[in-house]
Amino acid sequence: MLTIHHLYADMMNLYGDRGNVISIRKRCEWRGIPVDVVDVGLGERVRPTGCDLFLFGGGQDREQALLADDLSGSKGADLRAIVDDGGVILGVCGGYQLMGHHYETPEGEKLPGVGIFDLHTEPRKPDEARLIGNVLVDVPAPEAREERRIVGFENHGGRTYLGDCKPLGRVVSGFGNNGGDATEGARRLNAYGTYLHGSLLPKNPWLTDQLILSALRRADDTIELEPLEDSVERSAFASMAGRLSGK
Ligand code: GLN
Repeated sequence: MLTIHHLYADMMNLYGDRGNVISIRKRCEWRGIPVDVVDVGLGERVRPTGCDLFLFGGGQDREQALLADDLSGSKGADLRAIVDDGGVILGVCGGYQLMGHHYETPEGEKLPGVGIFDLHTEPRKPDEARLIGNVLVDVPAPEAREERRIVGFENHGGRTYLGDCKPLGRVVSGFGNNGGDATEGARRLNAYGTYLHGSLLPKNPWLTDQLILSALRRADDTIELEPLEDSVERSAFASMAGRLSGK
């Protein structure tokens, strides 16, 4: 049984990031893999089962401020330990920002992050616009021994700067972490951070399966995933990727 831990499901679900839960659940069910979804709200601790996938969606500054305090105690320490042990987590936008050291709001408030990634996020300057639009990213995927691409939609004011931390990928089209260094997201062990909403996973089935396989192999490292008939997902990806790469 794969357990999807949906962090702050009712608060951090901007631009339909709940679609990431649906995509993982369906790609497991289509393969006969039992899935349970657990919402982890304010004041609730994460309770790993041994075969887990953690999702942390996007949210406005107001929601981020509400849950930064909740993350600053044992819950944040639990999540750091899970990642250090190779646990699988995907953070999107506001959730991604809080996986770093801090997220500074436009009002100058520094919201503490969990410290999973060595990164921080600064507010946009008064004369800077929010970073909004469709995004195409080249992602080194060592698991697949090749470079893959992902598409999505970004809408964030924050500018994220990586320290000693690998990006998830390189921006082909769009802004990415800060609109300046061509990095997008972050990756450490099986922790993934990205600005890509969409939601991200339905149009990027290879990444969905990579997350599922990594989670399942924590319980049984011999597991393989049977291929799915996902021509619809792939054509959705190709349509956007083609538009963004000018092909
Ligand atoms: N509040 C954060 C920002 O604007 C993240 C927004 C989001 O999750 N889309 O940068």
